[in-house]
Amino acid sequence: MWKCENCGRTFEKTNQSHYCKEKPKTIDEYLDTFDEDRKNIMAQYRDLIKETLPQAKEKNSWNMPTFYDGKNIIHFAGHKNHLGIYPGPKGVEEFLEEIKDIGLSSTKGAIQIPYDREIPMDFIIRLTEFSYKNR
Ligand SMILES: [Zn+2]
Repeated sequence: MWKCENCGRTFEKTNQSHYCKEKPKTIDEYLDTFDEDRKNIMAQYRDLIKETLPQAKEKNSWNMPTFYDGKNIIHFAGHKNHLGIYPGPKGVEEFLEEIKDIGLSSTKGAIQIPYDREIPMDFIIRLTEFSYKNR
């Protein structure tokens, strides 16, 4: 692990290039704080949510990419080995059986999807639509 003395973030690779300023304000800036592999995977989730909800706007809120339309709809965040999707407690509850069936784990308001797992597209689309209707 390498810790950037400037911003305090830690990375696996020494001198990893990253967004090294104040906290990212946009999703692009947020994605730039990750290595290429994670960034590319997260960008695919972002595109999928954007295609599902073209009317939603994006912001970086609580340092999590966030989609909103009046109210927050759904967030995601990059972690070391997985992407976290945050549809809120209602979304997790609604899809709990399916989350287990497709082999994902979840907490009260978050679903963990390992980066090396194929994107469960159909599930993400329905989860996003549910979160929109129940925002
Ligand atoms: Zn830095």
